[in-house]
Amino acid sequence: MTKILLLGGTAEARALAEVLITAGLDVTSSLAGRIADPRLPVGDVRIGGFGGIEGLRMELADYAAVVDATHPFARNISANAVAACAADGVPLLRLERPGWAARASTSWHWVGSHDDAAVTAAKLGRRPFLTVGRQEIDRFVPDLRDHAVLARVVQAPEIALPATWRLLTSRGPYPLPDELRLMRDHRADVLITKDSGGEHTWPKMAAAESLGIPIVIVARPARTPGVPTVHDVAEAAAWVHDLARVSG
Ligand code: NAP
Repeated sequence: MTKILLLGGTAEARALAEVLITAGLDVTSSLAGRIADPRLPVGDVRIGGFGGIEGLRMELADYAAVVDATHPFARNISANAVAACAADGVPLLRLERPGWAARASTSWHWVGSHDDAAVTAAKLGRRPFLTVGRQEIDRFVPDLRDHAVLARVVQAPEIALPATWRLLTSRGPYPLPDELRLMRDHRADVLITKDSGGEHTWPKMAAAESLGIPIVIVARPARTPGVPTVHDVAEAAAWVHDLARVSG
């Protein structure tokens, strides 16, 4: 049977695993192992890095195709998948949720990096709501050290945060009424986010808009051109089914 390696760590990847496994396909989901208690997809799961491009190439010997459904900001694993698949002629599909650019308003401040986001947010407010995730949180400390930051993460970072900061560990979904309450309670005056896109974390954007709070948004990193890309789970499933049909 056609074996598929699904690079995951996202809601879309979990949804795709469920669709494909329900259809009887042989899928192994791969997680980085960043979170101690990850949400697991159905079916076979492997956890941990492959050891760069060469490690991924060795793993690919067992698979007929790869679907890269990792987060839009997970730049390294996506680049490694492109290189490893190209080296051995393994079909690769990118599943990437649409970004938020089409929904942007004039109160959004687009920046090209987390460092620029910190500088911009420091000028815009005193009480930021920081939602970029644990891995990038240290880049906000120098510029926002004296700000009353509410930082929301899934898992607490290893670094010590300034005494003026409040850490909120939680995992979505985050419905709009909760986001409104949280931002009002904190008296947030600027929201800092990355362009994660999709619906799952959109309510914070809607809440900021409705409260008149400016948004500092980090643009997505550039991707390797030429990789077939789809934007929803059904299209990705169709690609896998076509491939399975052709390879019998
Ligand atoms: P990254 O910077 O692109 O990856 C760093 C290294 O982690 C990769 O080189 C690879 O190690 C390993 N890795 C990443 N994703 C992997 C996967 N799905 N399976 C096996 N190994 C993986 O990625 P990241 O930004 O740290 O994100 C890590 C994971 O968290 C991704 O799976 C992503 O989908 C998920 N995630 C990321 C974000 C975000 O904002 N970045 C948000 C939500 C979820 P080797 O080189 O050793 O193979």
